[in-house]
Amino acid sequence: MSAYAAPVQDLIDELGRLPGVGPKSAQRIAFHLLKLPKQDALRLARAITEVKDRVAFCQRCFNVCEGDECAICLDDRRDATVVCVVEEPRDIVAVEKTGEFSGRYHVLQGAISPIEGVGPDQLRVKELLARLEPEGVVEVILCTNPNIEGEATAMYLSRLLQPLGLTVTRIASGLPVGGDLEYADELTLGRALEGRREVDAG
Ligand SMILES: [Zn+2]
Repeated sequence: MSAYAAPVQDLIDELGRLPGVGPKSAQRIAFHLLKLPKQDALRLARAITEVKDRVAFCQRCFNVCEGDECAICLDDRRDATVVCVVEEPRDIVAVEKTGEFSGRYHVLQGAISPIEGVGPDQLRVKELLARLEPEGVVEVILCTNPNIEGEATAMYLSRLLQPLGLTVTRIASGLPVGGDLEYADELTLGRALEGRREVDAG
């Protein structure tokens, strides 16, 4: 039996499923929400409902979008032959800010992480492979985070993609190791993109 009324315990359980929210934080947030004026709490509930109703993932690249495809995929001025592979939609924002990239993207929706039980099957890898030929892709830039999971993901993808006769490149080092792309400044990330090198998967 929980010490709390069932609806409170449900809320704590749901919050505890969010990334980075441990049991203690889940309790703290739940009690914060309980104390909020009703209209403030409902605004949060509505924002969640809205985002689930109106925003989906692009059918081509898995960026967030309203409608079937995102604005980048729909923009025919962009170079369809170069695809920049990133972990999350927020990484697209980071790369776009550099102004150094005019191709398309592919969002994996995560990175390989044995500790968290995430393998290639949980990522949008199949969907990436399916795009390559129909879209005439000649270069894939592996723009995953410069940390253990991101490097493992880049290595896995380069082994998968190189036999297909594509140019597979990895963004240059120089980014803070262990960090996330989204925290890199535009100039550093722009240089890392510009200085990308062909991967030697061996
Ligand atoms: Zn898209």
